[in-house]
Amino acid sequence: MTIRLTNTKTRRKEPFKPIDRENVQMYVCGPTVYDRAHLGNARPAIVFDVLFRLLREVYGPDHVTYVRNFTDVDDKIIARADETGRDIGQITAETTQWYLDDMAAVGVMEPTHMPRATDYIPQMVAMIEGLVKDGHAYAAEGHVLFAVDSWKDSYGKLSGRSVDDMIAGARVEVAPYKRNPMDFVLWKPSTGDQPGWDSPWGRGRPGWHIECSAMAKALLGDTFDIHGGGNDLMFPHHENEIAQSCCANHTDRMANVWLHNEMLQVEGKKMSKSLGNFFTVRDLLDQGVPGEVIRFVMLSTHYRKPMDWTEKKREEAEKTLRKWYAQVSEALDNAEPYENVVQALEDDLNTAGAIAELHQLSLAGDTPSLRSSLRLLGFLDNGIPEWAAVPQVDLFPYVSLLTKARETAMETKDFAEVDRLKTLLTEAGVEVRMSRAGVDLIPDAGFDPSKLEGILS
Ligand code: AMP
Ligand code: ZN
Repeated sequence: MTIRLTNTKTRRKEPFKPIDRENVQMYVCGPTVYDRAHLGNARPAIVFDVLFRLLREVYGPDHVTYVRNFTDVDDKIIARADETGRDIGQITAETTQWYLDDMAAVGVMEPTHMPRATDYIPQMVAMIEGLVKDGHAYAAEGHVLFAVDSWKDSYGKLSGRSVDDMIAGARVEVAPYKRNPMDFVLWKPSTGDQPGWDSPWGRGRPGWHIECSAMAKALLGDTFDIHGGGNDLMFPHHENEIAQSCCANHTDRMANVWLHNEMLQVEGKKMSKSLGNFFTVRDLLDQGVPGEVIRFVMLSTHYRKPMDWTEKKREEAEKTLRKWYAQVSEALDNAEPYENVVQALEDDLNTAGAIAELHQLSLAGDTPSLRSSLRLLGFLDNGIPEWAAVPQVDLFPYVSLLTKARETAMETKDFAEVDRLKTLLTEAGVEVRMSRAGVDLIPDAGFDPSKLEGILS
């Protein structure tokens, strides 16, 4: 089977062909570290984590390189330092650790490399120097700007807009030092206590976009397989990354496949502080919503569709996961992930389809496949979580009792005793399954062993 992915660049679902099967490479734009990650920020982290896991499954765990950066130089960070009087380094270090903790809580594996922008300033300066030398950028009033007109025919291809359309439609920042209003900042001057580095254009700091071009080049090379992020990054961020990288590296592409996840909403509305429906991943975790539940809800919607976080979905996800964890707690851990689950993921990361397959496995009682498939989706990295742990009670005496009662009932044709036992077990939170093969008892979400007392006497 081949992985198929919907490439934003071509607007088509295409078979994925890595440049080098021995080293599949992916870059995803990471967070700007000045505050806790909100629930929307968790969406790309989880979506691309599933893709990372799928690529590792298909090409081998040692044959995938995944880079996700930290933006630790940015005007929002400077503003946060001014507001709070705190040191920028403290803010970014603290927020970076929060991000790692919160993403680990929702089952996101650490990427292969997690570069911080401030560690790549010399690479950014070198790239900008090359762009200036080749006439793709110009210095003006302490700034260096990318000259969009120097690459006019190609600029805008990702989002499918021409430069003229973009000028008409976008809120572009007009500045006296820009030759064209679409020109964007590669470097800007730093004053006073703003973070700054010496450069050929004076003391300053990078614009936002150049960091990804420089870090991707340093860690993955001039051209790589997959570039991802939320679809709010398509323009201008990704368009600008492409322009910088192609012009600096003299290539016709930065990445072969561009993937974008849709946005997350809450109860059908945009998540925003003014609507009072804005929350961070940590808010949810602190309220007792397990990270696995957050992950499950995220995966129940395809990444290219807007995703709606609702209370109802949260409840359903928790119930389903409790049931599955109970089912797989004793299952052997040596099965391959179920073929249909792998196939669903290979089909443009159809996580909703994969979950539908897990429901089938659960119904069929194929617990080894259920377990391995849950693992592939990133659910059992640390075993069964404590919140879902089922009390360990030996149910064998109840299986024997029910089996005997059923044998008797078969002869007498009187099923009253069987029904009575079934009711008692169900009320105690044990699912009763009877087939020709025999009796199976599965502790459910609300399993309460104390309610079993009395059944055997
Ligand atoms: P930022 O820290 O704002 O640069 O965002 C980090 C990542 O989160 C980027 O990939 C954004 O596209 C993504 N993102 C931000 N808001 C949302 C949202 N509401 N839903 C889904 N993804 C989002
Ligand atoms: Zn980026």
